[in-house]
Amino acid sequence: MFLVVGAQSSLTCRRLTASVSITYGWPSQPVAHAPQQTELKRAGLKVTMPRLKVLEVLERAEPHHLSAEDVYKQLLRVDESISITTIYRVLTQFEQSGIVERHNFDDGHAVYELASEVHHDHMVDVETGAVTEFVNERIEALQKEIAAEHGYDLIHHELVLYVRKLKN
Ligand SMILES: [Zn+2]
Repeated sequence: MFLVVGAQSSLTCRRLTASVSITYGWPSQPVAHAPQQTELKRAGLKVTMPRLKVLEVLERAEPHHLSAEDVYKQLLRVDESISITTIYRVLTQFEQSGIVERHNFDDGHAVYELASEVHHDHMVDVETGAVTEFVNERIEALQKEIAAEHGYDLIHHELVLYVRKLKN
């Protein structure tokens, strides 16, 4: 998935239209998983149960940056038999097919989020690991300018700010 660097100001990431609270159990009725099935097919992936489940966790995640362990813990909580190895494999497949983006932050933790239509940058709390998204038009414009000054067209960037909470 290519990020569009430019004039967007919204922080909207692509998610399910119906937002669902994170404290959920899997619906006891087998549900259609219709949006997820469509999503997988569009990415050229065969629809399998592990893929559906991992995708569902990522779509319901709030905040929506999860490590592989986070995904694993959430699935365990609802008593799923999925293994951590499977989760890593599925996440890698998702990454390769463009459904998710992986961010490797300098503190050594990698998080996954659904690939968003809209570009955003991240800041990482060095004490808690909390990830915050932001978009700043001045930074976006400045980066383009800098690239142009060097004779380049900016096609992509990732910006991560490592931050610590201000003490009052
Ligand atoms: Zn993000």
